[in-house]
Amino acid sequence: MKYIYHGFVYYNNNVHGNPPLRYLGCAEHKKNGCRGRATIPVNGTVEQLKVTKPHNHPPDQMAEEKESFLKELKKAVRSDAMEGATLKRVYEGVSEAFPTVAFEIPFKSISSSLHRWRKNPWM
Ligand SMILES: [Zn+2]
Repeated sequence: MKYIYHGFVYYNNNVHGNPPLRYLGCAEHKKNGCRGRATIPVNGTVEQLKVTKPHNHPPDQMAEEKESFLKELKKAVRSDAMEGATLKRVYEGVSEAFPTVAFEIPFKSISSSLHRWRKNPWM
């Protein structure tokens, strides 16, 4: 499960404490070595998210839109309607609804993910 708040993307880590808190890590950890961390009450909403360790990079105002773009791409590449369509065509179809994000995430940078998603429907 991913959490997006104020332009930062977090991954669910583990839950502990009483009352239980979800400990989140920054999604940029692998890519940028960001050690940004946050907590969120287990039954809380993202508005209750508290940053406990700062990020080493600025927030990405397009983070949420990027996530929606990737989600739509994933859905499209596996849809029956797109079966047999080239990955490029699937990408172009979804891009029409997300012109700004598509500019930031060009086909070349995402084509291997598209390929993987199509090959591995459980991912
Ligand atoms: Zn970060």
